[in-house]
Amino acid sequence: MNNPLCHGEKAGDTWAGNWDVVVVGNGLAGSAAALFAASKGLSVAVVGSGSQLPLSSGLFDLVGMMPGERRYTDQPWETLEGLIQSGPGHPYGKLGAQAIRRAFDGFLELLAHEGLMYVACEKNARVITSVGTVKASYALPKSMAAGADAFEKKSKTLIVGIRGLKGFQARQVAQSAGTVWPGLSAVEIAPEGLGRPGDLYPEALARELDLPAGRELLIQAIRPHLDGHEAVGLPPILGMDKSHEAMAHIESALGVPCFEIPGMPPTAAGVRLREALDRAFSRYGVATFVGGKVTAVSDCEAGFSVTASLRGEETVISARRMILATGRFMGGGLTGDRCLVSEPLLNLHVAQPQTRDEWHRCNLFDPRGHAVNRAGVMADRQMHPLSADGSVVNPNLYVAGSILAHQDWKREKSGAGISIATAFRAAEACVGQA
Ligand SMILES: Cc1cc2nc3c(=O)[nH]c(=O)nc-3n(C[C@H](O)[C@H](O)[C@H](O)COP(=O)(O)OP(=O)(O)OC[C@H]3O[C@@H](n4cnc5c(N)ncnc54)[C@H](O)[C@@H]3O)c2cc1C
Repeated sequence: MNNPLCHGEKAGDTWAGNWDVVVVGNGLAGSAAALFAASKGLSVAVVGSGSQLPLSSGLFDLVGMMPGERRYTDQPWETLEGLIQSGPGHPYGKLGAQAIRRAFDGFLELLAHEGLMYVACEKNARVITSVGTVKASYALPKSMAAGADAFEKKSKTLIVGIRGLKGFQARQVAQSAGTVWPGLSAVEIAPEGLGRPGDLYPEALARELDLPAGRELLIQAIRPHLDGHEAVGLPPILGMDKSHEAMAHIESALGVPCFEIPGMPPTAAGVRLREALDRAFSRYGVATFVGGKVTAVSDCEAGFSVTASLRGEETVISARRMILATGRFMGGGLTGDRCLVSEPLLNLHVAQPQTRDEWHRCNLFDPRGHAVNRAGVMADRQMHPLSADGSVVNPNLYVAGSILAHQDWKREKSGAGISIATAFRAAEACVGQA
């Protein structure tokens, strides 16, 4: 066995237990992997230094665009095949469409159990964003679905802004999106008694709309402006724990479909997603060690010992198998110096251009993207990380998410898809070994 795992410092004095699987990283990939494995009966611990999910739009992309193109695709499954053909080693190529579908279906079902509904269709749905641009995505939070429908029909739609709310200007949305959606108009309301003046954040407002009294204030303020509009678009504020109840209440009172417009981070949709995943962790008994970095990993015949620094204390978590889902540069899953991209925790081999000169193309906005964004850890079909010579590093070690090589999720618009699908496969492989 070719094993480059670094042997960390001597274990600290807190012994946190023994699990079937330890997942390092609690972003979308790590969370999904933990839930897929736990829902199949494995005991799972997640260790993560924090989660950027509350910053995300809440949309789940499968594939939005071929590298080199500038336009969104409507046909994600066809484009996915093209993506696999065009780049050997793409993570989707290791899974195939059938497994990717099962991963999405399974993940959306897990979220639905926690009260967070998504709508996925065969085609990519188009929605307008809080800056008035159009985005195509595969699975939308149910709270945004009516927006895709209204956009497709170009319904006469009222975009409602709330005075003082951070990150959302109804006029800007209507003006910018007006070129592709002529039936838009905008109004700014100031519902008395809703939100604290001067301190209006989407998440806080969303929590106020969990309460019927808060919704009534919003409804009263919108009603005089309805004036024949066929739909109402709002910032992402339609409830937090009770978002479906809030939507239903507001829609039935206004008598037209209402929808949330994906907003600037942090967004209520991202927070809802994080909270739904945390509820699912509790449901499936996933142990969470969040708020500190894993500083060392050692492995022996019995499995892995993961040392994490949590609230100033060293905690050692041991498990038979490990899934690495530490993301890319932003979360620290990959690091780069002047000439090399590295994987800092296990010192895994990182596939990358031979020299730094090849990292970037001359044109920053080149639609083909930059080679450095495709650097990452290579994996086999079971999501085992591979060494430079193509051999499996350790049969009990798996990798999932954006840390993987040969994909450029930002350009392909495949972020959530790659995370969910590779997490599914890694968890499936762990279950197969149990
Ligand atoms: C602002 C924003 C908007 C997005 N919008 C979309 C969208 O519209 N559509 C879409 O499909 N996707 C979107 N995504 C992408 C998606 O949510 C996922 O972030 C992406 O798929 C990558 O997930 P990941 O879990 O692989 O990595 P990450 O999300 O980076 O998670 C990795 C986690 O591991 C942690 N970590 C790293 N090293 C260690 C360590 N040593 N010890 C402990 N923890 C560690 C990091 O802190 C991080 O929390 C968005 C993401 C962001 C941030």
